[in-house]
Amino acid sequence: MSKRVVVIGGGASGLMCAYELAKGGAQVTVLERNDRVGKKLLCTGNGKCNLTNTDASAKAYNSAFVENALSKYTPQEIVSRFKAMGLLVRIDSEGRVYPYCESATAVLNVFLQRLREVGAQIVCDCEVEEIARCGKEFKVRSSNGEYVCDCAVLATGSDATQGKNSHFLAEKLGHRTTEIKYAISPLLCKEVRGANGVRAKVGASISVNGEIAMQERGEVLFKDGALSGVLIFRLSSMLARYRGEVKNCNVVLDLVPDMSQEELENHIYENCSVFAPLEGVLHKAIAHSVYARTPMDRSLIMSRKKARDIARVCKEFNIEVTALSGRSSAQAASGGISTDGIDAETMRSRICDGLYIIGEVADVDGLCGGYNLHWAWASALACSEDILC
Ligand SMILES: Cc1cc2nc3c(=O)[nH]c(=O)nc-3n(C[C@H](O)[C@H](O)[C@H](O)COP(=O)(O)OP(=O)(O)OC[C@H]3O[C@@H](n4cnc5c(N)ncnc54)[C@H](O)[C@@H]3O)c2cc1C
Repeated sequence: MSKRVVVIGGGASGLMCAYELAKGGAQVTVLERNDRVGKKLLCTGNGKCNLTNTDASAKAYNSAFVENALSKYTPQEIVSRFKAMGLLVRIDSEGRVYPYCESATAVLNVFLQRLREVGAQIVCDCEVEEIARCGKEFKVRSSNGEYVCDCAVLATGSDATQGKNSHFLAEKLGHRTTEIKYAISPLLCKEVRGANGVRAKVGASISVNGEIAMQERGEVLFKDGALSGVLIFRLSSMLARYRGEVKNCNVVLDLVPDMSQEELENHIYENCSVFAPLEGVLHKAIAHSVYARTPMDRSLIMSRKKARDIARVCKEFNIEVTALSGRSSAQAASGGISTDGIDAETMRSRICDGLYIIGEVADVDGLCGGYNLHWAWASALACSEDILC
């Protein structure tokens, strides 16, 4: 008799897992609390779905737990799985992989089509309230009644941006949940004002309690009272992963990363007007913030000291971070069901036989750039392969 599997959660990991299982001959039921599956998937990558990254390796994640699954389910493997489902991809200059038509809807539609073909059952408006182990079976209790199965796959994601955490389902079976913070989100910084909407290509480092946690180059988006953009999202993951008490946190921007401080000083001294020395270098709103931090100097000619002061502020534009911006504007949760209780090769629970834990509900978070969806696919494939064997 084929295995009866209930997949709890019809998001990225749940859909991939259900498809592989049903294709392999299992009797699969997906239970989803929303009125439709894949709601979060549709908002990924600003509606374009950055589904993996050619650079997906353990260094983009919070723990080495991912190594096993990632070495088997590489970005190339994920891309070829999608191709076999009919979805072509395109890759941008930073290794981010998108559907060829740049539409997250296409990814979801491909899953729905394929799931229909392999006969997986999807039940929406069905919130799971308890997973109970009864002898060799599970009884999955939900708002829509009880489902009996041989294996239960927990794929309930996190409440980042939307949704609700269902970690309690695994906790009731003996699993532990680590502290949850929200990652891939803007950083709140009181001092950032007057440049709302301005984007700049900068270098940036984030330091927590005086120690540099990450240094990168990329685009930052200035907002009133916050810093945002892909670069900041990556830095925010580092802050979210920090487990001790955060006494102070600073972002230091290098506003002219293509020049050394000395080169910039020389350029300002030799070529720039004393009245608006950064006119041809930085966006006006950012230049004004730099002038505001430069020591007062009323002279009408550009002095070497003034050029040096301005160059220094540009290269070390220090901003105090007051907080991460919270769940409603975060793309991922850092923290979740502790990976201590999960087998890294198969996603099998080490605590409850027949239970599997995949995707973001586990304490696995990747940086911005397609790494979280990569984990959703890789963990789903590792799990389905184990259930089928
Ligand atoms: C705005 C935004 C943009 C993002 N963009 C990207 C991107 O471009 N690239 C990338 O790699 N990552 C991106 N992410 C992160 C990525 O979407 C998630 O990491 C990924 O969806 C996690 O997959 P999952 O299957 O674990 O969880 P989800 O996709 O969140 O699916 C979990 C499902 O379980 C359901 N559920 C929860 N509890 C229950 C319950 N008790 N009973 C029944 N059902 C339940 C939920 O309703 C949900 O449908 C983005 C996230 C957001 C919020």
